[in-house]
Amino acid sequence: MVLFFSMNEFKLIENFQEILYEKSPKNNEKKVVGIGDDCALVDLSKKTVVTVDSMVEDVHFKRWYDPKDIGFKLTSMNASDIASCGGVPKYGVLSIEFPKDLDKDWMLRCYKGIKKGCKKYGFSIVGGNTSSSNKISLNLTLFGETKKFLSRSGAKKGDLLFLSGETGLSKRGLEILLEDLPMNKKLVKTHLNPIARTDLGKFLAKYGTSGIDISDGLLQDLGHICEKSKKSFQIFSNKIPINRQLKKSLGCKKKALDYTLNGGEDYQILCTIPPKHKVKAKKLGLIEIGYTQIGSGIFLDENKVNDSGFKHF
Ligand code: ADP
Ligand code: MG
Repeated sequence: MVLFFSMNEFKLIENFQEILYEKSPKNNEKKVVGIGDDCALVDLSKKTVVTVDSMVEDVHFKRWYDPKDIGFKLTSMNASDIASCGGVPKYGVLSIEFPKDLDKDWMLRCYKGIKKGCKKYGFSIVGGNTSSSNKISLNLTLFGETKKFLSRSGAKKGDLLFLSGETGLSKRGLEILLEDLPMNKKLVKTHLNPIARTDLGKFLAKYGTSGIDISDGLLQDLGHICEKSKKSFQIFSNKIPINRQLKKSLGCKKKALDYTLNGGEDYQILCTIPPKHKVKAKKLGLIEIGYTQIGSGIFLDENKVNDSGFKHF
């Protein structure tokens, strides 16, 4: 076992660099300078979106998880924020902290997961910071470009509400992992390796009026659009997609609907789109689950609902 801090710091960063760059970052005529200087030089459009997210040991993951999954999930969380604002990821900076006795291979494998995310979502890591700490902590700041910023506050009366895919799987996947329940690979994979919907970023910038990614639960995150847009939403339980394996794992449809409405960390996107663009949205696989109206609060079928999604504190 090679311990990280027994290595020279430069050697360590070289190791990261080898994993992240085949040769150098996407280097368009030296407009971009990556790892190796005090700052990175990046080349971004005038409308730049930026976000930061973290993965902290024992809060977001356990050390026995595959570090490649942890690294990849970090990139998904950030890329998902960029996509839900109508952006496309471009450059990231990564700050890591870890205990002095951590096995070197742990962090190198984590970087392999980060590299997998860079490839999947089309961005480069151009710098970072390295420090020691009692627990492992990974913080990624991601910059992206957009033609139009999609806010939580833009929903208009009459806009249709679309969902990008099934939710609730990640919450059940986590329970299976931590409570040793009967294995379901699809549910566990959704928890460990969620895929950000960066395929939707450009479409949302063009046709969306508001957007949010579902990190804390469908109802809770829809609640944010409600509040910021000062509108009410009517949603229909028979239009909300329920994953078959989720239903099987939970044993009944009612419970599966509860997980679908309140489970977090699936990183699907909720967005509002004017009815005239409905056909284009459906062609992309977006699922119409309701509409925007004047007023406040969320109505599920005939009932006004209270959100009970995941709360951090
Ligand atoms: P400084 O002391 O000026 O902050 P460092 O010696 O910490 O610079 O970093 C040297 C170079 O390596 C910088 O370009 C920095 O962005 C990059 N770097 C440092 N840590 C990491 C990391 N964990 N991942 C990626 N790049 C890193
Ligand atoms: Mg410096």
